[in-house]
Amino acid sequence: MHRPVTQVITARHQTEGGGFKVRRPLPSAGLRYLDPILLIDEMGPVDYRPGEGVGAPDHPHRGFETVTYMLDGEFEHRDSAGHAGRLQPGDVQWMTAGRGVVHSEMPSTRIMAEGGRVHGFQIWVNLPARLKMTQPRYQEVAASRIPEAISDDGLARVRVIAGEALGVSARIDTHTPIIYQHWILQPGTQVTQKLPADCNAMLYVFAGAIESAGKPLVDGELGILGKGDTLELSVPAEATDSAQVLLLGGVPLGESVVQHGPFVMNTREEINQAITDYQQGRMGVIQPG
Ligand code: FE
Repeated sequence: MHRPVTQVITARHQTEGGGFKVRRPLPSAGLRYLDPILLIDEMGPVDYRPGEGVGAPDHPHRGFETVTYMLDGEFEHRDSAGHAGRLQPGDVQWMTAGRGVVHSEMPSTRIMAEGGRVHGFQIWVNLPARLKMTQPRYQEVAASRIPEAISDDGLARVRVIAGEALGVSARIDTHTPIIYQHWILQPGTQVTQKLPADCNAMLYVFAGAIESAGKPLVDGELGILGKGDTLELSVPAEATDSAQVLLLGGVPLGESVVQHGPFVMNTREEINQAITDYQQGRMGVIQPG
């Protein structure tokens, strides 16, 4: 059975971190999270002039994972464990904050100096109680190593960041079953594929317009999918533009979610502990240089 679209949420524009602009469909007034996905931020697209770039300077995380996917531009990150790197278009960084990381995420030195376009996504994936205090972990996958598949008719292309699509499996390891796919759909696309019935799932359209099981979704809309075991995506043949969509979801954890800013735990006491640990430097400090 095709999963129906049971709720449509329109992303809102917000400002995050040091002032960068995001379009955020989740959380929203109508939905706090879709277990186990806590947040979806579309960063930009924004065109910076020289010296105008903004990002998210030093800040902590505990109890979940941040997944950054660049579409345009470059981001540089550094953290309290001495880890540093640069993300370029198509690259993915899957960071398990676990017991605690302090990091900064900024447009690259080059974009800061010369200006340029920045566009990408950051999503937050919750960790189960048994893994909230796990050792921090990074998986950084270059664009060329993200598995891709193309539909038989050549009209749909998918980049598989997590989960499985069109017979292709992701390379990134997730702690619990997660789905993260970027679909690029040409006019006339009609795709049906399996979607595990035990996973929550949603579609975020960030270019063009699609239909899923007969329900239209346009740029900036998040469609929450109901029960079923297949995903159906189409773009009318008469559409003038291709559409781009993220398919996100996972097996729900079914645990209590207590969030305070950059900390997501199961109880209020654990949040208080996270605040104390951060204030006392137990999540580390980014060394200059
Ligand atoms: Fe962060």
